[in-house]
Amino acid sequence: MPALTPSRPSGRVPLSHNPGSTHTKPVSGKRRLMLQTKLTRQRAMLLANVHLSRLAEREAEAQSDPLDQATEGLEQELAIQTRIRALEQLHRIERALRLIRTQEYGRCRRCHREIPFKRLAVKPDTIYCVPCLTRLEEE
Ligand SMILES: [Zn+2]
Repeated sequence: MPALTPSRPSGRVPLSHNPGSTHTKPVSGKRRLMLQTKLTRQRAMLLANVHLSRLAEREAEAQSDPLDQATEGLEQELAIQTRIRALEQLHRIERALRLIRTQEYGRCRRCHREIPFKRLAVKPDTIYCVPCLTRLEEE
């Protein structure tokens, strides 16, 4: 009859239990990886968009018809606005991708509290929590 394997209690207490520590990353493990993937994908999409809008603009310039120029002016204005916004977002995403390797990521720049993961999942490039962003927009 085989002896019972000694069932050692594997309940080792994890050392990471120090409440209120600012040394731990607010977002880590799978969640961080998921956000990182999302950011990388968004960056790739934005880069493609910016590139495409530039190509479209060049095309439009090449086929420029004097009769169309009035509407083209407006369209170009819009295209430029869109591209500026895309570049701004790209900038935020680059920053988030740099931050995600540090303890700073996922922490609000203004109040230094952890930004809820739900918010990060929707907007991984954010650096403010919702209450702070609302206040900043009101100022
Ligand atoms: Zn905040």
